[in-house]
Amino acid sequence: MANKLDLLKPRVKRLTLKLLEECKSNGIGIIITQTLRTTEEQNRLYASGRTRPGKIVTNARGGYSFHNFGVAFDFCPVVRGEAVWNDLKLFEKVGKMGKSLGLEWGGDWKSFPDRPHFQFTAGYSLEDFRKNKIDQNKFI
Ligand SMILES: [Zn+2]
Repeated sequence: MANKLDLLKPRVKRLTLKLLEECKSNGIGIIITQTLRTTEEQNRLYASGRTRPGKIVTNARGGYSFHNFGVAFDFCPVVRGEAVWNDLKLFEKVGKMGKSLGLEWGGDWKSFPDRPHFQFTAGYSLEDFRKNKIDQNKFI
């Protein structure tokens, strides 16, 4: 997991570590399932439920996800050693903790709630990231 976190921008990595600590001290286990995704990985996810079998899991094509810029990660609660994807309350608890640290939680999104997802964008849009119009100092 350590190297996965190293793929995040430093500030986002620190927030992720803080969240892990916070969860631990509240007796909640979580694992970080994904951090940075390459464009190819994102395109493969996008194909799920469209040109590949499975559910639709994202509306973002390759290059159009905050995961592609190292400022987003996904988590899953773990109870007794097992990943638990269907406990909404647990997701909500972790969501709240992350938000109090300054992370944006995907569970709040109205059109496509993404409960395992957190991001820290420093107020920048995807367009800003795509055009590299961001101040990297905000992510150190
Ligand atoms: Zn995500």
